[in-house]
Amino acid sequence: MSLHDHRPIALVMALRKQGITDARVLSAVERCPREMFVEEPFAHSAYDNTALPIACGQTISQPFVVAYATQALEIGPNMRILEIGTGSGYQAAVLSPLCRRVYTIERHRPLLREAEARFKALKLDNIVTKHGDGLKGWPEQAPFDRILLSAAVEEVPDTLTEQLKPGGILVAPVGPATNSGVESFSQLLTKMIRTETGLKREALIPVVFVPMMSGVPQEPRKLHESSDDKD
Ligand code: SAH
Repeated sequence: MSLHDHRPIALVMALRKQGITDARVLSAVERCPREMFVEEPFAHSAYDNTALPIACGQTISQPFVVAYATQALEIGPNMRILEIGTGSGYQAAVLSPLCRRVYTIERHRPLLREAEARFKALKLDNIVTKHGDGLKGWPEQAPFDRILLSAAVEEVPDTLTEQLKPGGILVAPVGPATNSGVESFSQLLTKMIRTETGLKREALIPVVFVPMMSGVPQEPRKLHESSDDKD
């Protein structure tokens, strides 16, 4: 993104019109070079307010939905946030300047490797990554102040709400998975607040996310594979 690239500002103006009011969130979006997170053929569309295809049949989320979910999380500067579904890494990169640490989990190793390279290039040192099934959460690092699901679930599993601090907020697209194209809204972005007695739940806006899948995809075995990942 060159200094004379006005596309991030135009994007932020569009987000304002759509009701994103949190100045810190708008600034985080404005400063995040989305062209680094999209595939080369889509570089010209990097600042369009749309989702775009990425590797492994996944998508980089629409900037509006990223901004909306980020705003709904009500993030404070000292918070530790868990994101499930790193994908391109764009959502994690937007969260990064707003909090103390982002923990992000992805089940497709090639996507995770690319996202890690982007975090390194952008010096986003407070993002830590994990390859694995995010439906299990990250028990070693729990509890979290905030949890964001970047893929759709039919229902939020207890395993995840249990990894939320009391008073903590979880935001997730809840509803059936879709493969019917982006015109049909099939999930409701849902906010859950962990209270002393249980969970308070609020439906926010209709959204379309790729489905959360359990387990990790089979990978071809290499001869001298390092065993850094135990799961
Ligand atoms: N936040 C991403 C959105 C990527 S789409 C971005 O800004 O680009 C959702 C991602 O969730 C996909 O990459 C998909 O592989 C991943 N995903 C789906 N189920 C998962 C699971 N159980 N654990 C971890 N990642 C998962």
